[in-house]
Amino acid sequence: MSIVIVGTGLAGYNTAKAFRKQDSDTPLTLVTADSGRSYSKPMLSTGLRKQQTPADLVQAGPQDMAAELDARVITDSRVVAIDRRGQCVQLASGDSIGYHRLVLATGADPIAPRLDGDAAGRVLQVNDLDQYEVFRDAVADASRVLIMGGGLIGCEFANDLAEAGYSVDLVFPEDAPLPRLLPERPARALQTALEGLGVRVHTGVTLDAVNGAGDGVVARLSDGRELGADVVLAAIGLRPRTALAEEAGLRVAQGISVDRHLATSDPAIHALGDCAEVDGYVLPYVAPLNNAARAVGATLAGDTTAVTYPVMPVMVKTSCCQVVAWPPPEGVAGAWQGDGDGRDLRGEFRDADGVLRGFYLTGSRIRERMAVTRDMPPLLG
Ligand code: FAD
Repeated sequence: MSIVIVGTGLAGYNTAKAFRKQDSDTPLTLVTADSGRSYSKPMLSTGLRKQQTPADLVQAGPQDMAAELDARVITDSRVVAIDRRGQCVQLASGDSIGYHRLVLATGADPIAPRLDGDAAGRVLQVNDLDQYEVFRDAVADASRVLIMGGGLIGCEFANDLAEAGYSVDLVFPEDAPLPRLLPERPARALQTALEGLGVRVHTGVTLDAVNGAGDGVVARLSDGRELGADVVLAAIGLRPRTALAEEAGLRVAQGISVDRHLATSDPAIHALGDCAEVDGYVLPYVAPLNNAARAVGATLAGDTTAVTYPVMPVMVKTSCCQVVAWPPPEGVAGAWQGDGDGRDLRGEFRDADGVLRGFYLTGSRIRERMAVTRDMPPLLG
């Protein structure tokens, strides 16, 4: 028996840790396309103000992880194919690694913006430590940063950069920030708080083109305006990495389709984290992947365990106006009711039967999180 995990992000390493809690004997191999350094990805969007280098964010190197997990950790090696019949994965180097059970924890790709202009290739994205390093180097001599995308990552970077003293423009097509997490009132409270930090928030527009101008760029917006910047950062969403699974003939929807046991359409192969769609849910956050890692770790060790998803509110690390939110499931009919003033708001979404299905808390109201979530039904019970 041998276990192979592809990916050493939080999903890969946390699965290995959960497995080793129950099984200290079975040979375990982790293989990753990156350097295999263990780090907490959410820290990437709060690191500038704290002047954290990529090295500061590393919690353990691959050798330390190999020792801790009693595992082989193979770094800088991309898996290019899964041979399901032969039960082995093929590496770009031409080597192959056999498995009895395979776990795909390959994460997601940031969506690349479609832009015109001769400097479109200079637009950066930050979804891992290496990209954080490139971004940090780029902003070292810069003063103006333009951010595309008003979601969690765009807003957190805008907050972090503004607090670190940069001049920040935040551009997105929706009417208010965090469109997937918040209704309008709390979203406006966050926008006002970001503007209070000096962030210029441009709603209802997209970035169409980026052209070089001296050491910086000029970005053209869809309404014809032009903004100057030294660095452009795109944070416009993620797409689960499904290609390996798809090419191996596994079922794929938005992410790699898995059931409550995190099993793909091939029972010898599991998937979790940003690459996976668990019982229809794609939730690219830490709490869901931790729940999934505990379940799949136990299952691999012989204790078949279904994942449960309690209410797992998303915390947005915008220090100017913290946000905790749990949006209602898509398609559920109901209505929002809110109270509070300024940036200290609370809202609840109740369905047609009066059941609490979603909520938001902002500013000082985030303290009420435990009280709000206590009576909510789990997502996957
Ligand atoms: P990843 O960390 O992307 O790991 C994927 C791994 O797979 C990597 O090791 C990669 O090298 C490897 N890999 C991929 N393809 C191959 C291949 N073919 N062969 C070999 N290896 C391969 N979530 C929260 O809950 N709260 C937050 O506050 C929060 N803040 C965030 C801030 C930022 C800036 C970002 C980018 C994300 C944030 N998230 C947050 C999301 C959260 O960090 C992710 O959901 C989580 O880290 C994903 O972990 P993962 O292991 O699934 O993927």
